[in-house]
Amino acid sequence: MASSNKVDVIVLGSGAGGLTAALAAAQSGARVALYEKAELLGGSTAISGGVPWMPLNHHQDELGIEDSREEALTYLRSLSLDRMDPAMAEAFIDGSRATVQWLEETTDLEFAIMPMYPDYHPEHPGGKPHGGRSLDPGLFSYEKLGEWKSKVAKSRRSAHLKITDTTLGGGTGFLDSETQKFREENDLRGCGAGLVGPIIKALLDLGVSLHVNAPATDLVIEDGRVSGVRVEIDGFETTVRASKGVILATGGFEWNPELVRSFLRGPMTSPAGVPTNTGDGLLMAMRAGASLGNMAQAWWVPTVEIPGDIAFGKQRANLVNRERTLPGSIFVNGKGKRFTNEASNYNALGGAFHQLDSTDFSYVNLPCWLIFDGRNARTYGSFGTPPGQPIAEWITRAPSLRELAVKIDIDPDELEHTVDRWNGFVARGDDKDFGRGKSAYDRWSGDGNHRFELESTLGPIDEAPFYAVRVHSGTLGTSGGPRTDTRGRVLDTKGDVIPGLYAAGNVAAAPTAMAYGGAGGTLGPIMVFGRYAGLAAAHD
Ligand SMILES: Cc1cc2nc3c(=O)[nH]c(=O)nc-3n(C[C@H](O)[C@H](O)[C@H](O)COP(=O)(O)OP(=O)(O)OC[C@H]3O[C@@H](n4cnc5c(N)ncnc54)[C@H](O)[C@@H]3O)c2cc1C
Repeated sequence: MASSNKVDVIVLGSGAGGLTAALAAAQSGARVALYEKAELLGGSTAISGGVPWMPLNHHQDELGIEDSREEALTYLRSLSLDRMDPAMAEAFIDGSRATVQWLEETTDLEFAIMPMYPDYHPEHPGGKPHGGRSLDPGLFSYEKLGEWKSKVAKSRRSAHLKITDTTLGGGTGFLDSETQKFREENDLRGCGAGLVGPIIKALLDLGVSLHVNAPATDLVIEDGRVSGVRVEIDGFETTVRASKGVILATGGFEWNPELVRSFLRGPMTSPAGVPTNTGDGLLMAMRAGASLGNMAQAWWVPTVEIPGDIAFGKQRANLVNRERTLPGSIFVNGKGKRFTNEASNYNALGGAFHQLDSTDFSYVNLPCWLIFDGRNARTYGSFGTPPGQPIAEWITRAPSLRELAVKIDIDPDELEHTVDRWNGFVARGDDKDFGRGKSAYDRWSGDGNHRFELESTLGPIDEAPFYAVRVHSGTLGTSGGPRTDTRGRVLDTKGDVIPGLYAAGNVAAAPTAMAYGGAGGTLGPIMVFGRYAGLAAAHD
């Protein structure tokens, strides 16, 4: 691909934010160059579930699912704790349908609604207990990318799965051997890889120059306008100029311990995204005088770290969604007490990990342990072990709850008492402490044979052996950064546009602030605003 030191629009980062921005700008006739710091394209997006949450998408019409602007906005407002800028939320909802249509019309993406997947707080006003807003990007053959097929990040587990094949999407997480073989032979990839692949192909078709191993180090600012970037290519720093603008799409700052310590509202020790997300774009925007928003927030998620499990050179943080929702499992804190509805959505659980005890002055619910019993392990398998197989050696186990408690250094009386109380709630079908199983969402991710029934998530812990796994406070990515207007233009501390500077994705203040509507609650707004930023940069 031809490379030049002067283009119209520069995009930094190749996740959903960068790719959609580059596509919109290039389709508007701009000469676009995209620089990616990592050796592979795709960022956290490529290893994600790839699901965007898109209210009012046109696939709802095909299935007769009713939705409206007012419902979607009312719902987001109900989750915002008054932190959301109404204009930004409106811009997201108003661009949602058009963004899905645009991507389907101009790339090989073909979204499908994840059947019956509930919103994350479906009982809130405007929430959808039977889904319709979360989309599966489907499978994409990487054969279509030619030499670029080996230059895109992928997730080991979901390489050939659509999200709807996974346990989270309503499937089993396993393919029959014929389907698996077919997908491998045709290099059909789904989830996040299925989302980024078609957009990368469209960019290549449009002649966008894509650079990997090319970290941007700073913005070039001349006469008050962002006019280019300094970027390292093959280890040499060079200046590239942009006649129209620079779009920051460098992801969050979750892998920068100093920024995490400075800004996040509570402990976050286990980031699940790509380790190149070190807040570079945030620092560039700060140096350019940007106003910041939503800085204390991240897209929170409980994670488990399996010894020796490495991704991109770092300890992999595995999301814990299914195991904590299945019957026969609970979370306890270091005092051996339950502290939350384990089956609630992962983002909301972040708040439980951040609870501070004012007397002890310590975080009450860290460390956290997932406790489960022999029946749970036998029936469902655990952390990658299929049902019926021996549970992995790294998982702590004991023949009795008391012995398990000693092994993980918690009070045996307290753990026994907690489990007795839980078993009593299960017997009566009513979790009186935390209401687990009351929401339609709680009854989705557990035992798929009982989907939407209480049995999908309520089950006793009473069969030896007993198991414990340490759970961490993790993130899918941080969600604070430079504030933008509704077109993705970065604002300064007076609220004025910084000429030539745009931002989209986790590098920027999230348009929905702390509201996480449903599966895809990060990628939905990111793609809508990526498109806005690309259009604005190309047309301003
Ligand atoms: C396992 C997992 C599953 C998830 N599943 C979902 C899901 O199904 N739905 C959903 O909505 N969200 C999901 N998320 C969250 C979602 O993936 C992120 O919120 C989203 O991908 C962020 O997109 P982005 O474009 O802002 O950043 P990213 O996709 O992280 O891309 C940022 C890119 O910028 C690059 N970069 C950084 N610094 C520089 C620099 N100086 N110069 C050039 N490039 C730079 C990075 O290397 C990276 O490639 C998931 C996350 C994880 C980890």
